[in-house]
Amino acid sequence: MNEVLLIKNGEIALKGLNRGSFEDVLMKNIRWRLKKLGKFEITKAQSTICVRPVGEADLEEAVEQVGKVFGIAAFSRALVTEKDLDAIKRDAAVYLKDALQKAKTFKVNAKRSDKTFPFKSPELQQELGGALLEAYPHLKVDVHHPEVTVTVEIRDTAAYLHGAQLPGAGGLPVGTSGEAMLLVSGGIDSPVAGYLMARRGMKLSAMHFVSPPYTSDRALAKVETLLEKVSGYAGDITFYCVPFTKIQEALRDHCPEELFTILMRRLMMKIAIRVAEREGVPALITGESLGQVASQTVLALAATNAAADRPVFRPLIGMDKSDIVQIARRIDTFETSILPYEDCCTVFTPKRPKTRPTLNQVEKAEASFDFEPLLEEAVAGIERKTIKMEQAAG
Ligand code: ATP
Ligand code: MG
Repeated sequence: MNEVLLIKNGEIALKGLNRGSFEDVLMKNIRWRLKKLGKFEITKAQSTICVRPVGEADLEEAVEQVGKVFGIAAFSRALVTEKDLDAIKRDAAVYLKDALQKAKTFKVNAKRSDKTFPFKSPELQQELGGALLEAYPHLKVDVHHPEVTVTVEIRDTAAYLHGAQLPGAGGLPVGTSGEAMLLVSGGIDSPVAGYLMARRGMKLSAMHFVSPPYTSDRALAKVETLLEKVSGYAGDITFYCVPFTKIQEALRDHCPEELFTILMRRLMMKIAIRVAEREGVPALITGESLGQVASQTVLALAATNAAADRPVFRPLIGMDKSDIVQIARRIDTFETSILPYEDCCTVFTPKRPKTRPTLNQVEKAEASFDFEPLLEEAVAGIERKTIKMEQAAG
């Protein structure tokens, strides 16, 4: 059976003159995603991308992987057949047998982009509809709410038949919206924040702060697992692991306890900004959500933000925890996120954090100690590696 995937891209259609380059990135991302599954031929014609397995390549697994590629609105598994009415009738009845037997109602939707095909779309719909009614006499036509829509597309090279459209992952192809550095903890929120920005087309790098011996190797391994899961959608992620112990100890020893968390966040920002600047990454991402904890009140966020001289994207800012958890479950990060290992944020947590710090207070407290040498040391001590895209993610 000669089956392919027909892919309709999502918002790419809105991109006017850039459309070609967006489609090229999408095709590259699909190719990359299917690399380990065997050989696939990927072509583009008439605003549809076609994925054709070559030899032994498994279309079933390709369906699963393509469903995770951002920039795809919907796709379908389609049978390739001849541009001949009898062949189309015969093949549709066989190829869509399961769906048509189960359904009570159906309709036929014909698209004729090859205008030399002798039947116009309405005629083709009538002809194929009639043939399917003959083959499955229990069926009725319902043009408004059919249980099954049989689509036949007459394209330049062949005719394509498909039954159901599968939902794509939506968004924009990763890499078409530039790059940002995700500040990633082992919590529930930041992996979801990274996923959401990748869905808007951003390539990700990620930074995590560790404070051994207060934080363990297992906590770091957990973060890497989370990033692997996010990379299943976002592609490879450059990962920076920052030694943060000395900075946290200095904070504990020299700064007012009530401002501890905010000062820590600002110092995290400062380090992230330095690396982002060095690596040419124009923006940061955090998993902050308004009002979730003391360090995420509007004044606390303003004080944190003032330490960053480039955009900080906070895609969860207006979301409830339950909404965030729902996404975390869907992308399979939730179970890992709730493993109980210490994060550097939970080390030396103040008993009464200030929820309404003014920037003035915060800057004064920060100036009471010279963090500069420690910041430099932390940046110099960064370990860098690549988190490879998880190919078999389910
Ligand atoms: P999360 O679930 O992402 O941990 P949270 O609600 O627990 O978020 P905080 O712990 O206050 O919130 O952290 C707020 C944000 O600061 C995180 O979403 C993340 O972007 C960043 N952050 C926190 N801890 C770290 C860390 N150890 N390394 C890097 N970034 C961190
Ligand atoms: Mg956290």
